[in-house]
Amino acid sequence: MTNTYFHSPEPPSTNLVTPGRVLAIGAHPDDIEFGAGATLAKWSQGGTEIAFVIMTDGSKGTWDPEANTLNLAVLRQGEARKAAGTIAGSSTVNFLGWTDGELLANDRSVAQLCFMIRKFRPNVVLGHDPWKRYRLHPDHRAAGFATTDAIVASRDPHFLPELGLHHRPDALLLFEADEPNHCEAFGEVALRIKIEALLCHRSQHVSSMEISNLGEDEELRHFKETVRSASERTGASFGLELGESFRLIREL
Ligand SMILES: [Zn+2]
Repeated sequence: MTNTYFHSPEPPSTNLVTPGRVLAIGAHPDDIEFGAGATLAKWSQGGTEIAFVIMTDGSKGTWDPEANTLNLAVLRQGEARKAAGTIAGSSTVNFLGWTDGELLANDRSVAQLCFMIRKFRPNVVLGHDPWKRYRLHPDHRAAGFATTDAIVASRDPHFLPELGLHHRPDALLLFEADEPNHCEAFGEVALRIKIEALLCHRSQHVSSMEISNLGEDEELRHFKETVRSASERTGASFGLELGESFRLIREL
C-alpha cells in the first residue's frame, strides 16, 4: 500500500536519463505524435525500445459526414503504423479497438493497459493528462484516467494477478499537461521526425493540421512552422531551445 503522507509535487525538471523501454498510450492514432513525437524520436535515436498503444479506432476522425467509418479505422491503423515506424523504426503498435468517442476508463480498459504495462515492462509510461481543464474530448480524459489507474493496478501484485507479474515503472509523463513540470529538449532531427510522423496521418491533414489538398506547399510550410513555434515556446518556458512539456510523476 502507498503512504500518501510522503507524496510531494515534483519540482520543475528537464531531460530524463534516456530510458531503456517506453510505453506510449494515446486515445487516437495521432495523439502520441502530437504530444510526445519529438521526445520519442530523440529517445529512439538513443536506443530506447518503444511500444505504442492506441486505445480507440479513430473512426470518427473526419469532418466528412459521408465518410465510411470502418474504412477510416482501417486507414488510420496503417497511418499509425507508418508514423510509429518513422519515430522508432520497427516499434510495435497495439490497437485496443475501442470505438472512437466511446472510450471509458473502466475495468476493461484498465485491465487492457495493466496487461500492456506488465507485458512490456517499461521504465517510462507516457499518456494523456486526465486532469487537463476545459478539454472537451471525452476520449482524452478517459485515456488519461485509464492510464493512471493502470499504473496503480500494474504495480501492486494483488491487482489483477491473472495478468502477469506486477511491474512498477520509474516515471509517468503526462502529455497535453494541465500544469507541466517537466520538459524534454530535442534538436532539429527529432523535430523533423515529429513533423514527418504527424504527416503520416494523411486522413487528419484537413481536420487536425489545416492542410487541404489544394495549395499544399504553402499549407505544409505553415503546419511545419506551427509545430516548430510551439516547440520553441515550450522549450523557452523551461530555458531550452526546442521542447515538449509534460507532467512528470515519479512517485508511482
Ligand atoms: Zn485525440
